[in-house]
Parts: sequence; C-alpha cells; structure tokens
Amino acid sequence: MKILVINAGSSSLKYQLIQMETEEVIAKGGCERIGIAGGKLTHKAHGETYVVEQEMPTHTDAISLVLKMLVDKKAGCIASMDEIDAVGHRVVASGEAFKKTTLVDDKVMETMEEIAELAPLHNPAAILGVNACRAVMPGKKMALVFDTSFHATMPDYAYMYAVDYDDYKKYKVRRYGAHGTSHKYVSGEAAKYLKRDLKDLKIVTCHLGNGSSISAVKGGTCIDTSMGFTPLAGVPMGTRSGDIDYAAAEFIFRKRGMDLSEGLTYLNKKCGVLGVSGVSSDFRDLAAAKDAGNDRARLALDMFAYSCKKYIGAYMAALGGLDVIVFTAGIGENTPDVRRDVVSGLEAFGIELDEKKNNFKNDGAIHEIQKASSRVKILVIPTNEELVIARETAALL
Ligand code: ADP
Repeated sequence: MKILVINAGSSSLKYQLIQMETEEVIAKGGCERIGIAGGKLTHKAHGETYVVEQEMPTHTDAISLVLKMLVDKKAGCIASMDEIDAVGHRVVASGEAFKKTTLVDDKVMETMEEIAELAPLHNPAAILGVNACRAVMPGKKMALVFDTSFHATMPDYAYMYAVDYDDYKKYKVRRYGAHGTSHKYVSGEAAKYLKRDLKDLKIVTCHLGNGSSISAVKGGTCIDTSMGFTPLAGVPMGTRSGDIDYAAAEFIFRKRGMDLSEGLTYLNKKCGVLGVSGVSSDFRDLAAAKDAGNDRARLALDMFAYSCKKYIGAYMAALGGLDVIVFTAGIGENTPDVRRDVVSGLEAFGIELDEKKNNFKNDGAIHEIQKASSRVKILVIPTNEELVIARETAALL
C-alpha cells in the first residue's frame, strides 16, 4: 500500500510518498511560493534531488506538478496515479468537530470550512490542499489527520479555561493543543524502545522546535498539553510569547498603539526568544550569541529551559509520577545544552541526566541519556509526523 502525505501551507506544500509495508519514504519534496512569483518544486527520489522552477498560481497547480514528478520517467517512482492507495492530509485544528482521523467527503469539507476560523493561519491552507487533490485525483480516498486529535482525550478540567461557561459552549473556546501527531509518535516509540507496554507508562513528551509544546501522556493517552486554543500558549518559542498575563499583553498593545489583531501578530511573530534576545528565533544563533557573551541571548535560553522545566514538574503532578521524558523536534533532537538545562535540578525527582550520553552526535537514532541510577528514563526520539499521518490514513482504509 502506498500513501501520499500532504502538508499544505498557505504558499507552500510538503509531500511524502510512503510504502506502508516497509514504512519507507519512496519520494518526498515540497513546493514553495505557490501563488507568488518564483514558484519552485524540490523533489527527492532514489537518492537524487530534482528542482523544477515553475509558476504555481494555485494549490491545484502545485499538486498537479507533484503528481507529474511522481510518475515522471526519470524523477518518478510510480507508473501511474493508480498506485497511490490514499492521501493523508495534515490539518492543524479540528475544534470539537472531529475527534479522530476522518475520511474526506463533501459534508466533512463543509464542516472544515465552518471551523476554519479556529486556525486562520493554517486550516484554510489545508482546505486548499484537500480541494486541490480532490480536483486532480477525483475519487481517490483521502483522510484528514488532525494535530489536535491526540489531545482530544484531555479531561474537561484540563482543557477548560476559567471563563464564562457559555463562551465555551457557544464558541468552543478551550485548550486544543498542537503537535499531536508528534506527541503520539514519540510516546509510542518510547514504549517500543523500552520494550514496555505503553498502557503502563507515564510520559512527558517535549516537542521543542520553532514551535514548542509539552504533553503529559498517561497509558498512551494525552491528559494535558501546553499549547492552548491556538499554538500561542505554553513555553516561550522562536517568535511566540507562550503563556502571558493578558493584562500585560493589553498594556503593551495600548502603549504601542496596536489594535488587537496587530497585538496578536506581535505576540505570535515578534516575541519569544527572538523578542527577548533581540538576536534570532533560531536556537543555534542564540547559543552562538550566548557563547560570545550576549546576556540577552543567555536570558532567552534560560527562560526557555526554566519554562520547560516547570511544565515537566506540573505534568509529573498531573500524571501522579513519571517514567519517561522524551525530547524531540529540531531543538529537542539537536541541542544537548537545552536538554541539560531543562532537566537540571530535577534530580530529587529521580531525573538524572548523563552529561556524556547527552552529548551524542545526532544520527537519527533513538538515544537514552539518563544515568544508570536515574529512576526516570530520558530519551531523545526523532519525530516523524508524516509517518503518523500515513499510518492513520492506512488504518482508516
Ligand atoms: P519547526 O517547528 O519549524 O518544525 P524544527 O523542529 O525544525 O522547527 O526546529 C527548529 C529549531 O531547532 C531551531 O531553533 C533550530 O535552531 C533548532 N536546531 C538546533 N540544531 C538543529 C539542527 N541540527 N537541525 C535543525 N534544527 C536545529
């Protein structure tokens, strides 16, 4: 069985074609600058990289080009579109409308339009991607795989905000979380790696990338997560503020003469470690700046680690104990100093990092980085959101 995974953004689109029996990626690539001058497709298959520079005015043009590459005599890897058994689409937000992976039909797409405003930066792009695929591959089975599904198991007292209950009922304002496919994948992989039953494990998964979220996973289900109604909440991120007192935010907006929409853009794009450091949103740049003596870069990194540490502590309490901490995503997989700073000081809770093991060179494998005496396992697991989307799609068929 072959599944095509599509992750559509507003002006970009990433894809992977996965052979499900072996879970091997047969081809992958991305389209950039859809709807903007200078369209470009980068396609990787059988060890080669192919670049096509071509205008892609719409997502339908982009999908058509992707399919053309997949069946191309030289760059391709399948004889015809018929070899694709189904398409799995990544969708950021499901609201309360969808609790699990869902097969696409007209009714489902109508609901998708209705909930688009829940993730205005992301969901409309996913709709464009689905509609483009339906136009180019009529009749092909397609699934929507939601970043929020894994968090749908949170108890009400964890997902509710303490606002007027009618606002929750009427507007569905509550915590939904994000990065669910990643949290699901790494918690499952942790159990497999440890040869333990996932049902018996209490895990805190730290997805630390440009956007970061931390989840509490009990027996394989999510019981709490740091992101909220949108991916703005939780720990400070590359450019997002993370948790903040709303009165403080409103005070800044007023002082700077920003309206609410400008204020939200500010919190999403100009804050986080970029805002604090004034250097960069990229943790590699921050580490270099800190090493060169930049104290605001040091402060940004300290704030990030401290916030992650607090979430681990909170989730240890929510879980009623802790067996495993998992680090994943760009920062979690590649930055030993951040991992060290996040767990330092937690020794009293049985969390003991082995400095030497922590300093491994990333080779794409799972690494165990706790001391032999540590009660809690600390794992670094490369995430694979596309594989989860493909698995979920295959399972639905
Ligand atoms: P996104 O949320 O955009 O998927 P990533 O998970 O790719 O983000 O994480 C990006 C972050 O990971 C950046 O802050 C970057 O500095 C950090 N990082 C550190 N080392 C690496 C590396 N070797 N490769 C990629 N990202 C890295």
